[in-house]
Amino acid sequence: MRAEVIAKYNEPWELRQLPDPRPQAGQVLIRVRASGMCGTDLHVHHGLFPLPTPLVAGHEPVGDIVEVGPGVTALGVGDRVGVHWNQKGCGRCAACLSGREGACPNAQSWMHLGGGNSELMLAWASGCTLIPDGLDYAAAAPIFCAGYTVMSGLRNADPKPGERVAILGLGGLGHLALQFSHALGLPTVALTGQAGKKEELRKMGADDVLVSGDDPGKVLSDAGGADVILSTTNSSKQVGSAFRALRPGGRLVNMGVTEGPITVDPMTLMMGQRQLRGSSQDERSDLYDALQLVASGKVKPVLETYPLEQANAVRERLAAGKVRYRAVLLHAR
Ligand SMILES: [Zn+2]
Ligand SMILES: [Zn+2]
Repeated sequence: MRAEVIAKYNEPWELRQLPDPRPQAGQVLIRVRASGMCGTDLHVHHGLFPLPTPLVAGHEPVGDIVEVGPGVTALGVGDRVGVHWNQKGCGRCAACLSGREGACPNAQSWMHLGGGNSELMLAWASGCTLIPDGLDYAAAAPIFCAGYTVMSGLRNADPKPGERVAILGLGGLGHLALQFSHALGLPTVALTGQAGKKEELRKMGADDVLVSGDDPGKVLSDAGGADVILSTTNSSKQVGSAFRALRPGGRLVNMGVTEGPITVDPMTLMMGQRQLRGSSQDERSDLYDALQLVASGKVKPVLETYPLEQANAVRERLAAGKVRYRAVLLHAR
C-alpha cells in the first residue's frame, strides 16, 4: 500500500510503499477512500505528541472493509465505515467500567494502529461506525473528528431552547458547529476574524456574523452577548476575551488546542455563575447524531478535496489558514 509517512517531525511527509497490514483478532482492514486533514495533524507534524517515527497520521478516515480479523461479528467485508480517535478502551479502568471508554488513559487509537493517510489501515472493530446510506465518503470523513468533537461540545454546553449560541473560530470544526447549532433551531452567531467569510457563514445558517478583531468579547458583548460560546480557535487570548461576553449562567466550551493557557477574568467567572468547560469527542451517540444530520442534508460540510499525493501541499495550506473549510484527501486505490 502507499502511505504518506512522517519520517521525521517538521520535515515533508514521504509517499512510501509499505507492506499491506493484516487484521488481528478484533480488528478490521479498511480500504481508505477519504481522509480529512485536521488542525491537530499540524500538531502531530510538529511532534507535539511524543510518538515514535516513522508514523502515518490521519484521524478522519472513511472507507470500506476489505478483511475482518477473528472474532469480528458485527462488521463484514464491504461495510462502509469511518473511524474516530479512541477506538477501544482497556476495558479495566474506572473510565471504561463506567461506560466512558473515550476517556480511557490507555485507549487504542490511530497512534497505535496507523492513521488514514494511507491506502489501507487497520482499526479496532469497536472503533468503526457505519456510514449512513447515501452519504458520500468525502462528506462523511470530517464528521469522524471535527463533526463528532463539536456535536459533543454542543451537547455538553446544555443549550436550552431559545438560548443564543456563538461560535468562535470558523474553520473545519467551527463551520460544522455553526450548522449543527442552527439545525437544532438555536439562534446562532458566528464570530470570525475574516470578514471575507461573512456571506458564506450566513448561508450556512448564521443569524448574525460578527467580525471579531483582537477583542471578540467586546464585539459579542456589544451585539448582546451569548448564553453558549463554542470555541474552536487556537488563540487562548481570543478565548479569554470571548468569555467576557457570556450572559449570566453562560457556558463557554473550549474545543481548541490553544497555543497557551486560557486566562479568564475572575469577576466575570464568579458573577452570574458563568462556566468555562472543556469538551472533546465524548458520547458515541454524538457521532451518530452528527452523521444523521449530515446524511439528512441539514448540515453540509464545505470541502476542498485533493489526491493523497498532495498531502504536503494541503498541510501547508492548512497551516496558512487558507482551507475552506475542511480539506479531505481522496485515495485512488
Ligand atoms: Zn482532529
Ligand atoms: Zn480503560
